[in-house]
Amino acid sequence: MTATKTTCPYCGVGCGVLASPQPDGTVAIKGDPDHPANFGKLCSKGLALGETLGLSQRLLYPEVNGQRTSWDQATALVAEKFSTAIAEHGPDSVAFYVSGQFLTEDYYVANKLMKGFIGSANIDTNSRLCMASAVAGHKRAFGADVVPCSYEDLEEADLVVLVGSNLAWCHPVLFQRLQGAREKRGTKVVVIDPRRSATAETADLHLAIKPQSDVALFNGLFRHLCGSGQIDGQFVHQHTENFSATLMAANEWSLAKTAMACGLTPSELENFFELFAQNKRVVTAFSMGVNQSTSGTDKVNAIINCHLLTGRISKPGAGPFSITGQPNAMGGREVGGLANMLAAHMDIEIADHRAAVQQFWQSPRMAARPGLKAVDMFDAVRDGRIKAIWIMATNPVVSLPDSNRTVAALKACPFVVVSDVTANTDTARLAHVKLPALGWGEKDGTVTNSERRISRQREFLRASGEARADWRIMADVAKGMGFSGFDYASPAEIFAEHVRLTQEGNDGSRKLDLSSWDGTDYDDLPPLQWGGSRPFESARFQTSTGKARFVATPYVALSEQNITLNTGRVRDQWHTMTRTGLVPKLFAHRAEPYVEINPQDAAQLGIKAAELVEVSGALGNSLARALVTDAVRPGNIFQPMHWNGSFACASLANAASEAQVDPVSGQPALKSASVTVKRFAAAWHGFGISRDHVTPKADYCAWRPINRGMAFECAGEKVPKDWGVYLYQALGAGGEVTSLQSHDSNSFRCAVVKDGQLVFAFFASAAPVEVSRDWLQARLGQRVNTLEVLAGRPQQATEDQGPILCACNAVGVKAIGRFIQSHPSANLETVCDGTKAGTGCGSCRIEIRRMMHEAAKPLAAAE
Ligand code: SF4
Repeated sequence: MTATKTTCPYCGVGCGVLASPQPDGTVAIKGDPDHPANFGKLCSKGLALGETLGLSQRLLYPEVNGQRTSWDQATALVAEKFSTAIAEHGPDSVAFYVSGQFLTEDYYVANKLMKGFIGSANIDTNSRLCMASAVAGHKRAFGADVVPCSYEDLEEADLVVLVGSNLAWCHPVLFQRLQGAREKRGTKVVVIDPRRSATAETADLHLAIKPQSDVALFNGLFRHLCGSGQIDGQFVHQHTENFSATLMAANEWSLAKTAMACGLTPSELENFFELFAQNKRVVTAFSMGVNQSTSGTDKVNAIINCHLLTGRISKPGAGPFSITGQPNAMGGREVGGLANMLAAHMDIEIADHRAAVQQFWQSPRMAARPGLKAVDMFDAVRDGRIKAIWIMATNPVVSLPDSNRTVAALKACPFVVVSDVTANTDTARLAHVKLPALGWGEKDGTVTNSERRISRQREFLRASGEARADWRIMADVAKGMGFSGFDYASPAEIFAEHVRLTQEGNDGSRKLDLSSWDGTDYDDLPPLQWGGSRPFESARFQTSTGKARFVATPYVALSEQNITLNTGRVRDQWHTMTRTGLVPKLFAHRAEPYVEINPQDAAQLGIKAAELVEVSGALGNSLARALVTDAVRPGNIFQPMHWNGSFACASLANAASEAQVDPVSGQPALKSASVTVKRFAAAWHGFGISRDHVTPKADYCAWRPINRGMAFECAGEKVPKDWGVYLYQALGAGGEVTSLQSHDSNSFRCAVVKDGQLVFAFFASAAPVEVSRDWLQARLGQRVNTLEVLAGRPQQATEDQGPILCACNAVGVKAIGRFIQSHPSANLETVCDGTKAGTGCGSCRIEIRRMMHEAAKPLAAAE
């Protein structure tokens, strides 16, 4: 069967995928060797896409107040409620909150409906949480939101500076391209990150700066470059403005002062400054660690300033490069899917632009000013200014800061609509109307990646249930509200309209111009990069003078706080886990919610490794397993943001984060919340496996899918009086139960066999449960020796794999460790070949390399 060429729906790398439905209903996934983003490679998440396509969690039919209804009724209700709110309270009383998961065509229709027909700009997107500061920084410096680099620049650079970016885990295929370049041309890599991430471990230089001190660092670099004769005078003179004011502001940043602000030694700083000065080909790539901050926009401009100063921009291997988190954050920006944008890179605050777009759309009214950005939008929902909100393809209860505020807002809102693929997200549970959207493989349209490359996401599966394309759902509601201009028959028609709008009134002054696409072959559209590899190659920028702008960036230190919470991502999960959370092997790398905490803090707080901790903010708290490590600085913790109510009962990282935002971009500061941390005094710990989904009642419980069922870890402050009753509640009736209980009730084990097969087993004790989890998980659904199950491990010792490190080939840490020990002179390739670890997507190679270094240390010391 011919494979369909499509695009991965996860991160902003935008890898090409070949998807081949198989006769048995499965879908085989491979990287597309012809796609210029990935040349055939995929990471662990991309490779597992075929395993996310089941129907178990899907929303299949429209629902109103939990009852199945028809599309006609649901559409009419949404149209009527929105129309009524607008008639009674004005256009700003309604809002759309959309998503970087949207295809560009979906985004285009949402933006057109809200800004051009409803007449409000209250449309914002979860991309606000991802790259709004980069957008604002680009606009200030270049006059438009244009990314000046391409992926090939990372391969052509001599120095790559990664700021606030764990590229190895969050953009793994791009990281592998960089590693390939390092091997070929010896590219130096500097990582600037308070945390020693997997990426930092591979760097030539890691600057573990104080959280949020990036502006000071780049101001210091700016002054150093000026003082050491590194200014590209001709470029600065001919192609930039506002240099003098920026220089004056940066002058105070002596080496000593910068080092003090960043928590570094002067010599560490000098090393970096000299590397930057000596290498003409420098790319500074940045991501969430820069953007998710109260000074995110200033950080972006402080970075851009250094590139403008040295003319290191829009030349091969040189430039500031924002790497986006979401698959189509960039496409959303192109069609104006943010509350402070218009469409086709026109400006909502310029009357001529508004008039041009209104004329093009033939629309009855236009939003006259920017709308509410994400955090402000949910505040307006909470205080009653917004009467109806439509949330599409996103899960803000989990991803926005201060989760409890978002929950309170949605509970208070008179009318909440959620369109989604998944039936029961933390957000969908609060909706009055749920509308089933097409999932990946079913929908059809385009996405744009971090290097401005538009690729097709193509349909290769039939729609599930009654799911519909997001653009069609919105177009039907628009028609129900009495608007014309939404009679689209296909995404191709929408894309063609978007292309025409990029040409509207565009005399070359706007870089976003898709006229090179002739509109005839949407189905076969090959990946298309607008603006070329380097859109500012001519050094003509999109400002009114054509010159790039330096922006003086005042440094504001993080105020004294308790412990600084940095939220982020793990290697094998994607955002709120609605899809990656369906794949057992993607939990092998990180099975439970966890918090990285420095050994000094752990000792001071009386927290031991693997104990549970409670992280508390002003409005909420979460529980997670302590991972004691010096990868985080004292006073800092790191907690992944993925776990939510669909995978754990009390582990929402953003429950403890704060809703502070960057004043320019409105992006929330998700990496520097002030929290307190304390040991959770667990009186008992439990581990269980179950064929059917159960949610044991416990203060802490986290569950994950495994083959033929689920596994869970739990703990509580009070030992249940009667374990039998506790289990009955968890499990329901049925099966043959064999149990063992200690006299003091502090230890309990049970196994349940039904029709000869193990369907449930549970182990609880006062100390963390020590059983062979992998071995037990493999027994589920099998005929078993019940006593062996109750022992929690096989009667005859087998070689333990240890926790799985390589998710692709299921190779554990212990197996790799044994191989390294028995082959002390093996190189990375030999270890990978010998164990099969790292031979799939390759994302775990960094950790294998680290194990090899750790194993080599005692030898080196002995020599
Ligand atoms: S790097 Fe991984 S998650 Fe990102 S687009 Fe490629 S395959 Fe998908």
